Amino acid sequence: MYVCIWCGKTASALYRRFNNGITKLSHCITCGNIVDIYTEYDSVLLLLDILLHKSRAFKHVLFNRNLNIQKRLFMLYLVCDTYIKLVQLPYSRSSSYKENCYNWHAVLERDFLWVFALTLSEYFIHFSVIYILVTFLCYYRCSIRISLFKVIKMLLLSSYGKLFNMAAAVWGANELLLSIWLTNIFVITSNAQALNVTFEISWRRSLIIVLTAFIVTKVISGSVQIWC
Ligand SMILES: [Zn+2]
Repeated sequence: MYVCIWCGKTASALYRRFNNGITKLSHCITCGNIVDIYTEYDSVLLLLDILLHKSRAFKHVLFNRNLNIQKRLFMLYLVCDTYIKLVQLPYSRSSSYKENCYNWHAVLERDFLWVFALTLSEYFIHFSVIYILVTFLCYYRCSIRISLFKVIKMLLLSSYGKLFNMAAAVWGANELLLSIWLTNIFVITSNAQALNVTFEISWRRSLIIVLTAFIVTKVISGSVQIWC
């Protein structure tokens, strides 16, 4: 089942093929608009609209594209975030480290496993907090049970901004910390927009939910790092 990107109502098809070979985009029976104009859009235009957080582009990606890249995205984010955390370790910034151990194979296995486990835990906490808050809000509002898979898919597809950090680290951004925080802000707003589109939660509430999950994750992660 597809979704009209204008009114959000369900639609049975995005286009129709006739016997004479002609294909026509379907119209929404509720609002009368073409169900999904992005079906015939160039990928670059779609990407630009996603970067601009346009809700119609988000609806196209989240509902009308049968994407099955969540597992690969998750692994990619995990590796990227682990790499960024390793780069930020105090010894990796010291000049002696850069002189002697600049290649990544010199990073101690123990540190890599520790940072990897920490990153994995952060994802678990972040997803759990958002799922609990969204479930509570939707159940309280209209007694709807939310699928965990749907929440995770929505978060993974809207967290593509995490890859910007990797690009900044690889191509040598001087202000890596600044780029990390800018990326965090971008990912938070992108997650909030996806939440707004997927569960029809207001933009303000969506932002509060994602911000709460972000803060809880950072506090727990920071506390664990201090204690260990
Ligand atoms: Zn419509």
